[in-house]
Amino acid sequence: MHAWSAPRVPNLPRNTNPEIDDRVRVWDTESRALKAVGPASGTAGLYVCGITPYDATHLGHAFTYLTFDLLQRAWRDLGLDVSYVQNITDVDDPLLERANQTGQDWEELAASQVELFRADMAALRILPPEHYIAATEALDLVTGTVEKLEAKNLAYQVKDETHPDWYFRSDAVEGFGEMSHLNRDEQLVEFADKGGDPERPGKVDALDSLVWRMARDGEPSWPSPLGRGRPGWHVECTAIAQRYLGADFSVQGGGSDLAFPHHEMCAAVGRAVTGERFADAYVHVGMVALDGQKMSKSLGNLELVSRLRGQGIAAPVIRLALLTHHYRTDWEWFATDIDKAQRRADAWAAAFASPAGTPTGPVLDDLRRAMRDDLNSPEALAIVDEWSAATLAGDGEDVQSPTQVAEAVDALLGISLN
Ligand code: ZN
Repeated sequence: MHAWSAPRVPNLPRNTNPEIDDRVRVWDTESRALKAVGPASGTAGLYVCGITPYDATHLGHAFTYLTFDLLQRAWRDLGLDVSYVQNITDVDDPLLERANQTGQDWEELAASQVELFRADMAALRILPPEHYIAATEALDLVTGTVEKLEAKNLAYQVKDETHPDWYFRSDAVEGFGEMSHLNRDEQLVEFADKGGDPERPGKVDALDSLVWRMARDGEPSWPSPLGRGRPGWHVECTAIAQRYLGADFSVQGGGSDLAFPHHEMCAAVGRAVTGERFADAYVHVGMVALDGQKMSKSLGNLELVSRLRGQGIAAPVIRLALLTHHYRTDWEWFATDIDKAQRRADAWAAAFASPAGTPTGPVLDDLRRAMRDDLNSPEALAIVDEWSAATLAGDGEDVQSPTQVAEAVDALLGISLN
């Protein structure tokens, strides 16, 4: 599928300060530590799990895609190229259930929600994926992956005469569970809570996950070497990631609710197929709450990017409100967050329009330090606030500084206030 239009990313002067780390470090769930991600030179590979397009982009989604946009900006500032892949789970139970409830055609529902997502992402100046791949475009990749698993005795059909669905022998893969650090009891709870089917009769093990669902009446399905059916979710991401990024790419990312079972399953399928690591690091983004509960489509307590935009709130203001929070924290959205972000945007815009400011060098160094050290966006905002206040107070005489700092803020934080 086509993604969305790419924002301009200004080229900043290369860093010459030897005291600034020349790698980007982020928190890796698997090693439970900050880890330098991406190669020292060349191309970093990034896979971020995409949406299931049955409802509009809420702020929790926006926060996740913003986080990996910041990672790409930090990598690009190091001179790295980035190969970025995202999927769209455009055929899955929640989408089909919603279409049934509302009497819509599932394909039209998916297409309309993908279009809205694209518009939200473009407005927020989120860098688009190089490969934006829908599940329905990856059927051969998925069935090819399942066939490779079957050849290793890691995929099988359940003993069910009417619906002999295909399953993956999850915990038969060495290291299963070591990414998310859950014990078996915890895995079973999470698996059942998040769409898994531990009680399904005919499975070898309760944690085995669906990789190809055989056709049912009234559900979309496609012919395949495995029989007529449709893809399971976890294997969809693995198949797409390995096709476009190869084995052992830099980062798989997503919300913290995806660590188990989704990313653990992706990693296990990936290792089973290639014998190599799937991603080098697994990076998870905190959950956003509204009215005291995690913002989620299923609970319906959503604040939508499109609704805020419809209220006339400028996209950079929404982006600034999100940047206030470090990606690893869970946080709660309040309507007043927009007022604070608007005040900050107004102050920065005035400072960027000033005839002179305090020198750029230290600001750029500090911004790079903050973003390379675990994408510390709250720290980055504080750095720009300080420069902005000093500039507005008339403290600086550097006539280049307002333009140069505006370019740095655009390149590293994706905020353009022109
Ligand atoms: Zn995924």
